[in-house]
Amino acid sequence: MEKLDGKALSQEWRGGLKTRVEQWVAKGGPVPCLAVVLVGDDPASQVYVSHKIKACAQAGIRSIEERLPGSVTQDELLAKVNNLNRDPEVNGILVQLPLPSHIDEAAVVDQIDPLKDADGLCTENLGLLAAGRMRVAPCTPHGVIHLLKKHQIEMAGANAVVVGRSQIVGKPMALLLLQENATVTICHSKTKNLGQHLAQADIVVVAAGRPEFLGAGDFPKNCVIVDVGIHRKDNGKLCGDVRFAEVAETARAVSPVPGGVGPMTIAMLLENTMQLTMLQNPGVTP
Ligand code: NAD
Repeated sequence: MEKLDGKALSQEWRGGLKTRVEQWVAKGGPVPCLAVVLVGDDPASQVYVSHKIKACAQAGIRSIEERLPGSVTQDELLAKVNNLNRDPEVNGILVQLPLPSHIDEAAVVDQIDPLKDADGLCTENLGLLAAGRMRVAPCTPHGVIHLLKKHQIEMAGANAVVVGRSQIVGKPMALLLLQENATVTICHSKTKNLGQHLAQADIVVVAAGRPEFLGAGDFPKNCVIVDVGIHRKDNGKLCGDVRFAEVAETARAVSPVPGGVGPMTIAMLLENTMQLTMLQNPGVTP
């Protein structure tokens, strides 16, 4: 079994990006700047945000952290996003999800200027992706594509099954695999016979958000499995949606949790920030 090592690829990517940022700045480009908005005190979100801020610093990207209380109103949050939209020093904006239940998440994401949408999640950027004219892609599924490419997994013509249809992972994942010429099936909580679909798969991307719910018996032999899920078990250890030890015996390649998709998500966030900075400064030649 080949391990789809997202940690290694993320480090390589971020190293390359650091060099590109230096070259960009040497040519007169502004130091890219990412603003991260964190609402409330969800411990997991705080950890994710601190990783993102640290990764920015390592790549030579400036970051601004905006913390707002969980009691913030929709209007206050929209006003904060508007201020960042107008701030000429800010190139990328990320609002850490999930937001408290009294906030309309989609409205907040769509308030972000599409040219500053570092997560690639606003309607305009998802629409461009669907139209085959990608500007910036959502970080997690884009990271999966790069991980598969790095390991020379042939996507063209492959039967790819995506388990999950969320706006953040499943849907854009399917679009990106389609763009790579895979034959794509999307399964979700109402899919009648998941096993039947999985049996035909060459590549499966699992993003169901259910701890270790799939094992060796669910996948055909020599399948490539990308596990997007991330959960903390009672013993404090992390696990994915897939029982890694089981599938390690039968799969052709598997992404581990941790060390698979998670680190790639951060690398793609930095990459998107750089791409948006370049789009906003067409006069600077990289
Ligand atoms: P979500 O809850 O929004 O969506 C889950 C999807 O899975 C839904 O579309 C649902 O229909 C489908 N589903 C649920 N049970 C199913 C079943 N039994 N069979 C088939 N489909 C089923 O979750 P999400 O935001 O897409 O995240 C999915 C997982 O990925 C979570 O564990 C999340 O923590 C993780 N995640 C990881 C990263 C990362 O960077 N590693 C990023 C985003 C999400």
